[in-house]
Amino acid sequence: MTTARVVDLDLTGRTALVTGAGSGIGRSCAERLAAAGADVIAVDLDERTAKEAATAIGGRAIGADLSDLDAVDALPAQVDVLVNNAGLQVVAPLPDFPPDKFTLIQRVMVEAPFRLVKLVLPHMYDRGWGRIVNISSVHGLVASPFKAAYVTAKHGLEGLSKVTALEGAPHGVTSNCVNPAFVRTPLVDKQIADQALANGIPESEVVEKIMLDRAAIKKLIEPEQVAELVAYLCSPPASFITGSSIMIDGGWTAH
Ligand code: NAP
Repeated sequence: MTTARVVDLDLTGRTALVTGAGSGIGRSCAERLAAAGADVIAVDLDERTAKEAATAIGGRAIGADLSDLDAVDALPAQVDVLVNNAGLQVVAPLPDFPPDKFTLIQRVMVEAPFRLVKLVLPHMYDRGWGRIVNISSVHGLVASPFKAAYVTAKHGLEGLSKVTALEGAPHGVTSNCVNPAFVRTPLVDKQIADQALANGIPESEVVEKIMLDRAAIKKLIEPEQVAELVAYLCSPPASFITGSSIMIDGGWTAH
């Protein structure tokens, strides 16, 4: 699906860094911000996919493992738009939840965003302008069973985003979360088998019975729709939106 680019956004002269830009939502965000004129730095664990994304949009690619916090600290600091997007999911009941995966998810999805915010804010403060968009989730605000690490991390990211908003406001920096329900990406495809196991249902029923069960709109969201919301948060009319969590969930959290 190709979503119309409706947001009037000019990021000429701005640099945007997108984590997890090799795939899914991150890739759509990188494409959208590049279409607005930004010089995009595509960061991903898989350098090959980062390069693919960067080549397609005329950006720069960096292969980095965000669970390696020294590698995070070494990323470029001259950034005007930061999209904290990289993430992963592990589905397992709490008694079986692997502690090393819990730690990994907090590192990639909370500690790395913290390090990146800390890294780029001085440049944003110097320029008197910056946009931080954190790709959170409905799971930043509510929980689902079998996702202890992910729900914990997304709730943490929400807190980081709000503190960043309060500190950044006097310097022209906004910070917001974007909160999708299930988006059509590899992250969703990869959890179908584990969801089937954890819930005791066939894989063929996972999308309808688990992923779309709470949504009023019974469709997966497209990554381009999330990217368009990210573009809006970087646009002039959104300059008063900060410390917010913007749901894009088809009514998932309306219950
Ligand atoms: P995706 O297609 O799997 O993309 C995630 C990207 O993050 C991948 O390119 C992945 O690289 C990268 N990544 C994972 N671990 C990393 C690490 N240690 N260092 C650097 N990069 C790493 O997933 P997505 O659905 O687009 O998810 C993007 C964000 O949206 C995540 O924060 C996710 O929680 C959030 N989100 C997704 C949904 C959904 O339904 N899809 C809903 C709500 C929120 P590899 O592929 O090489 O591992």
